[in-house]
Amino acid sequence: MCGIVGIVDAGGVSIQLYYALYALQHRGQESAGISTFDGTNLCKFKGQGLVADVFSPPVLKDLKGTAGIGHVRYPTTGANLPENIQPLNFQFKDHFISIAHNGNLVNTCELRDEYEKAGQIFITTTDTEIIAKILIDEIDESGCVEDAVRHCMRRMQGSYSVVIMIDGIIYAFRDPLGIKPFCLGKLDQGYIVASESVAVDALGGRVLRDVKPGELIQMDADGVRCTQIAVAGKRAHCIFEYIYFARADAVMDGVLVYDVRRTIGKKLFEEDPVSADSVCSVPDSGTAYAIGYAERSKIPFVESLMKNRYMGRTFIMPTQKERERAVRIKLNPIPAHLKDKSVVLVDDSIVRGTTSKRIIEMMRDAGAREVHMRIGSPAIKAPCYLGVDMPTRKELIASDKIQDEVRHSITATSLHHISLDALVEAIGFSRDDLCTGCLTGCYPLPITGETADPRQVNFIDGTYQSKLESFESRAS
Ligand code: AMP
Repeated sequence: MCGIVGIVDAGGVSIQLYYALYALQHRGQESAGISTFDGTNLCKFKGQGLVADVFSPPVLKDLKGTAGIGHVRYPTTGANLPENIQPLNFQFKDHFISIAHNGNLVNTCELRDEYEKAGQIFITTTDTEIIAKILIDEIDESGCVEDAVRHCMRRMQGSYSVVIMIDGIIYAFRDPLGIKPFCLGKLDQGYIVASESVAVDALGGRVLRDVKPGELIQMDADGVRCTQIAVAGKRAHCIFEYIYFARADAVMDGVLVYDVRRTIGKKLFEEDPVSADSVCSVPDSGTAYAIGYAERSKIPFVESLMKNRYMGRTFIMPTQKERERAVRIKLNPIPAHLKDKSVVLVDDSIVRGTTSKRIIEMMRDAGAREVHMRIGSPAIKAPCYLGVDMPTRKELIASDKIQDEVRHSITATSLHHISLDALVEAIGFSRDDLCTGCLTGCYPLPITGETADPRQVNFIDGTYQSKLESFESRAS
């Protein structure tokens, strides 16, 4: 749960990085950072808080250069410490290195142990520093970034979309299963890689394609070159990106997220029809689903919960008590739309159950007679180890409860979760190409104590496409 971006642009990059991070703000609200290379040195700035709070015009002015990377963070591993804010910056021999990562490694402890036994020290508690160490060691050894990335991919188990800048050259690579999203775009005078296509859109750029699972992309003043480093038999795109995490206007791996959610809304009605006076969403995460539900059921869509848009995501509050209070500040029911009404309330997911319970209470207090809850994901039964903050089974309301017990606990009149089959059909990939760990408890790579259906990964010798034109024609 982070957003990353890398840009090369002859016209300068700091403002563009800023707006790209702005577009990715939903992926992490705890901290933000930018590093640029001015031709001689690394220019860097990072801090805790939202993008708009961290950066000011004078700060952006000092981030000089035609290449740079940026990061917004929501921590899955590594505590909320200033030293964990990314990009992480290093100087090694004469080289200036900056790295940003979205994802989560599951073999961090083994790798860290190994380095510590060899006498290395770590400054942060993030897995990103381990990626940097493996890469830098190998670049030192072989002098070849492509080989270093190949070596890195062999050693790292988990999800990772990574952008690393070495002396002003940007290297972007994505794990062989393509767990986290990553795309490539063209700007007026340069190129961009970013977690989601919305960052490219925000800069008026053109999305070329997704970074392929197992691919390395190099961007510098000469253009873009790509190498396929590893190929897996199957992919494992994170299903939760489609359900909740990505912006609805993002196109990920060729699929428009909004359409997935709207289709699920339709399927929710088909699977468990109910008659009601209105359909209402939990804004904004439930809106596309609710629109689909209203379309198919012909029940009018009526906004009955108004969102205060100046507040962050409530899930991101660290304590349960804060999260509960935050729901009330964030969402305000409209009694005139709810009094004596039977309402279908649509949201993307139930994780801990805090949000749904509070919202249903608020709607009943505002006069709603019946609240039929419809959820765009199947029940979340298991934790995520690959980059989404879904911590322990104990905290997940559905991990040990059947649907009716969850319904009772959130006080809904009725409750229906979309089936996994319908969800997969709405996304359009084969089920084998999706990571459904949080829904099924079965993961696409081995995780201690968990069931797995690991994908086979082969490492290959790729060929650089040295010409931009040939690259672009391949892309289209
Ligand atoms: P709750 O059931 O109270 O834990 O809250 C669930 C709501 O929080 C969902 O409807 C989503 O909108 C949002 N949500 C789900 N998963 C996450 C997550 N991993 N991080 C942040 N927000 C989330």
